[in-house]
This record gives sequence, structure tokens and C-alpha cells, in this order.
Amino acid sequence: MASPDDSWTARSLAVQAMGKIDEPTRGVVPPIHVTTTFIRDPDNQYRTGNIYGRPDNETVREAESVIAMLEDARSAMVFGSGMSAAVAVFLALKPGDHIVAPKVMYWALRNWLMKDAAEWGLVTDFVDTADLAAVEAAIRPGMTRLIWLETPANPLWTITDIAGIAEIARRHSVRVAVDSTGATPILTRPLDFGADIVMHSATKYLNGHSDVLAGALATRAEDDFWARIRRVRAIQGLILGPFEAFLLIRGMRTLGLRVKAACENAMALATRFANHADVHDVLYPGLPSHPGHALAARQMTGGFGGMLSIRLRGGEAQAVAAAGRVRLWKRATSLGGVESLIEHRASIEGEGTPCPTDLLRLSTGIEDVEDLFADLDAAIRAARG
Ligand code: PLP
Repeated sequence: MASPDDSWTARSLAVQAMGKIDEPTRGVVPPIHVTTTFIRDPDNQYRTGNIYGRPDNETVREAESVIAMLEDARSAMVFGSGMSAAVAVFLALKPGDHIVAPKVMYWALRNWLMKDAAEWGLVTDFVDTADLAAVEAAIRPGMTRLIWLETPANPLWTITDIAGIAEIARRHSVRVAVDSTGATPILTRPLDFGADIVMHSATKYLNGHSDVLAGALATRAEDDFWARIRRVRAIQGLILGPFEAFLLIRGMRTLGLRVKAACENAMALATRFANHADVHDVLYPGLPSHPGHALAARQMTGGFGGMLSIRLRGGEAQAVAAAGRVRLWKRATSLGGVESLIEHRASIEGEGTPCPTDLLRLSTGIEDVEDLFADLDAAIRAARG
């Protein structure tokens, strides 16, 4: 492979998956490496560094090199899902360690922290991470090891000041990890704001086609903690499979284009629904009315994301009925694909959710925005009580 030129932008490098080609054939797309085992040298060494498929796979490494480049990270690791990536970070802590996490965050991870992680000996306090003083007050000296953030945070799209929290964390020698699934490295690079680790559900925007389940971590330093996470992945077999890694690489080639188009559509829809007779609130950091707008404008570059939520005057009944009537929007969980998805979020989050029951979560895809507006507008009107 011609080595990447320092002057090439992240966009050019991602489009060409770091310029990697298949050397034997000179094919522009490298093959999928499926081997699970590697030949030992006659003198008993493994000079390639490859020993066994649970830690070692070349296609996985190719995906990781793109993610590390996009996040300006020292190293990246990909996993079989976003949850396995996140859980690997927490399992690299020790029983008795304390975590500060957001009140608004991906619900399945919040539930895992509240129940399973607590049984395993981790102690978590959930705070409003938009409130820097509250985050600092929650730190328990000598016990807190990790501050977990998510920004914009699912499903209210609250914004957290990564640099502000990283500064507090540094003073207390605590690590900061950021679930940046909604922002993508196109809009925010958390390591540039002082975070230590960035996490993605790569199932979402990084892959972008709703056909791969994957997770990713990227780190500022290849330190002992990173080595512990790598060990968790290797021992538990959490590594992404090579076919999925190949599809993830293919998806990331168009990440910049897809995210830009989704942001434009989301902004247009947010603006139009903010003036809709049936909508009493639009939660989108791109709107000046959003409490995190000024911060998002500093922390996000090139757009405010493809995710927004709308709250209907007709309450839960109208929200559920509207979701039931869409035709172009697809009624499904998940986000970040090229197709637009709609979800009555409170139904899936269940007990303890901060999600209001009149809320519809919208993952804006890259379809024609006029079609998207017309379809949802018609569904909302038809769902009036
Ligand atoms: N983080 C966020 C913000 C998510 O939206 C999701 C999935 O919806 C996850 C993490 C978990 O990722 P996965 O479904 O790939 O395990």
C-alpha cells in the first residue's frame, strides 16, 4: 500500500479505507481474511504477530485503522456490538470501582449498569452530565475511576461539555469515556476535547446500512487500561467477525456523505416540525431553542446530527398512532442507517426511562426531505384524537 500522505483529509482516507489494496492482485479492495489460525515459524516463533483468530484478524485491523484515523486516536478496537464494546470498558474496571454516568443515556447500557454491573461490584451514580458542578460533586475521591458520557444523548439529545468534564476528570485523575454514536467522528472527535476513550455503536452511522451489528472503541493512549480492555475482548471472544468488519469498512467509505445528508435532513425537519400545530416540542441540538445549542455549536462541526425527537400535543395516543400510520418512515428501533426510522421510544425503554410518553424518536436518513416531511405530517394529522 502507498502510505497515506499527511496532507490527505480524514474524508479522503476513509473513502479509500486508508488506501489499503490487495498486493498480490493489485485489487483496489483488500480481501476478507477469514483464517482463525496462523502457521508458527519453524523456530517456534510467531513473527507476524498473528497467533489465533480471537485476538488476531487482518480485516478487523483494517476497520480499526480507519476508525483510529477518524477519531485521531492512538489505537482502536472493534467488537461484535456497541454493547460489547461498552461493557468491555466497564469490565476492565475492578469490583468496588465507582462510575459517574449520565441520567440520559442509551437505555440498555443504563439498565446493565444499574443491575448486572452492580451485582458484579461496580457502583454507578447517574447524574445530569450537562451540569458540571453535579458531575464534580459525584466524584468519590480514590474510588471513582470512570466518567461515562453520551453526547448528543439518546433519546432527548442533551449535549454534554466534553472539554469541561475532561478538565474536572483530570483534576481528580479519573478517565473519561464518551459514547459518540450519535455524533460520529464527522461531527465531534471526543479525544480532541480531552476524553480518553471514545465508543461507538458501529451498528449505526459508522456502518450506516442497518446490516451489521458492531461496536468500536478508540483510545488516546495505549496504556494499562487499554491493555485490560484488549484482554477482555480476547478472553471473551468479543471481536467483530471478518465479514462484518469488511461491511463496516465499506460503510465507512461513505460516512462523510451520509452524515452530511442526514444532518441537512434533520435540520430541515426540526425547523418545520417546530412550527407544526400538533408538535409542542422538538428536541434537536441544531435549533437555537435547544438548551445545549450554543455548546453543540462549539463542540460539533459541520452539523448537529441526524437524530431528533418530537413531542406531540395529543400525547402518547397520538404518538403511537402516528408511528402506526407512516409509510416511508420505517417503524423500527435503531438509528444511523440510510433509511429513516421512527420509534415510540418510551415503549422500548420501559420503567425508569426519562423519555416522555408523547415522544417520537426520529432517525433521519438520506431520502428526499420533502417525502419525509409529507409522510410524517400526514401520519400525525391522521392520528389526531
Ligand atoms: N449506544 C447508543 C447511543 C446506541 O444507540 C446503541 C444502540 O442503539 C448502543 C450504544 C448499543 O449498540 P449495539 O446495539 O450495537 O450493541
